[in-house]
Amino acid sequence: MRHARIGIGRIVLIRCDVVVVGAGPAGSMTAAALARRGYTVRAFDRALFPRDKACAEYCPPGVADVLERAGVWASVAPYAVSTPGMNVCVGGLTILPVRYGAGGVVRTGFSVPRIRLDSMLLEHARRCGADVREGERLTGITNIDRGFSVTIVNRAGESTTMETRAVVAADGLYSPAARLLGVRSTGRWPQRLGLVSHFATARDLECGEMHVGSGLYCGLATVEPGVMTVGLVVDLAEARARGVHGQALPEWALERLPAVRARLEGATMLKPARGIGPMSRRVDRVAGAGFLLVGDAAGFLDPFTGEGLYRALRGSELAIETIDVGLRRTSTATVPDLTGYAQSRRRVFAGKERVTWIIQVAMTQPRVFTRLARSLAGSSAARTQFGNILGDIARPTPASASVVLGGMAAGGVRSIFRTGHTAS
Ligand SMILES: Cc1cc2nc3c(=O)[nH]c(=O)nc-3n(C[C@H](O)[C@H](O)[C@H](O)COP(=O)(O)OP(=O)(O)OC[C@H]3O[C@@H](n4cnc5c(N)ncnc54)[C@H](O)[C@@H]3O)c2cc1C
Repeated sequence: MRHARIGIGRIVLIRCDVVVVGAGPAGSMTAAALARRGYTVRAFDRALFPRDKACAEYCPPGVADVLERAGVWASVAPYAVSTPGMNVCVGGLTILPVRYGAGGVVRTGFSVPRIRLDSMLLEHARRCGADVREGERLTGITNIDRGFSVTIVNRAGESTTMETRAVVAADGLYSPAARLLGVRSTGRWPQRLGLVSHFATARDLECGEMHVGSGLYCGLATVEPGVMTVGLVVDLAEARARGVHGQALPEWALERLPAVRARLEGATMLKPARGIGPMSRRVDRVAGAGFLLVGDAAGFLDPFTGEGLYRALRGSELAIETIDVGLRRTSTATVPDLTGYAQSRRRVFAGKERVTWIIQVAMTQPRVFTRLARSLAGSSAARTQFGNILGDIARPTPASASVVLGGMAAGGVRSIFRTGHTAS
């Protein structure tokens, strides 16, 4: 389809193959690859970049792999602070070092400030030929004969209407686009609030740390030399039950995680904490005729296992394939069927989701969690498989899952699941 503009007073009508709502990592990567394949792509974001995003900014090695495939890792790498992995800590002690790689090949995770990463991905989309606009907010999506009519308004209050064959909802956790496309989104367990900030520190961390307490956890990682990201995640029900909210939350949380407080001794907060919650959401479908959802818009569980960015980027790869095939297979007079995307996501994500759920359930009982983590740490084979699954460099297979579960079983997981009791 040709890119056409028809000006009607201050209202502009544009026609393009694909409209991408939201230019965070998921939207920018989708727009970039589709533009590279020759489609006319219009992407827009309500924010002006560089913009920040509440995120603990830790990336498992699988993220680097996706960025490499997209041809953008070489630009990101100079700003990425490499880390051997993530030490899971309870009571200030490392109980499970999560590392990546196998057979003598060592992989590493990394941290990178979102304010930088997201701007680089947005510029990458522009370089690839996508028409990316900032400061434009979605106001409407309606079905038309051969696709959708998408309306936006810019900061000057001017309206633009785009007619397109395919819409990508990449506008984050509370996706207005998904709602306008008729997708139902609901909160789900676990209901947690995330608070993130940067601190100037005298000593950089050699490795990421995930401190787990009762009803909360905190991720720490060096994101730039001399700068540490601190990501606190608290159980909303527990915080509410204790009457803690607003500015009192970080203080309350740090009292319960003395090892984190010790790490922050003498550190200076560089920017106010950004909060978001409840974070966990599911959608009733991720695709339909002519549309699909990527990144957090397609649902989000919890940042503990760090798969937010990986899912956003890997999900965009799956979206690109589905849209490309859909647009090529259908005439310009018909809306492409993009429902196959749901199956692609299941194939790629379902295995890790099961592992993630086991972790989430275990985290509700700190003693169970500690026992499982210690048990995994004690089995080299299980620890390796577990690290690579969490690092998004190995998809769980029945064989690897049984190794991991076997490692946990040594700590009594079978008896926990059989009797439902709390291990002591
Ligand atoms: C507290 C916390 C900590 C996290 N820590 C990690 C971590 O350490 N590692 C990790 O991998 N993941 C982490 N995540 C998850 C990660 O941040 C997300 O998964 C990731 O940002 C998803 O990218 P996205 O492109 O889907 O959405 P976003 O990055 O949210 O981008 C969506 C874009 O849509 C735009 N938008 C929204 N509404 C509109 C509209 N109406 N019109 C136009 N534009 C719109 C927004 O401005 C935004 O730029 C964390 C999340 C939270 C909440």
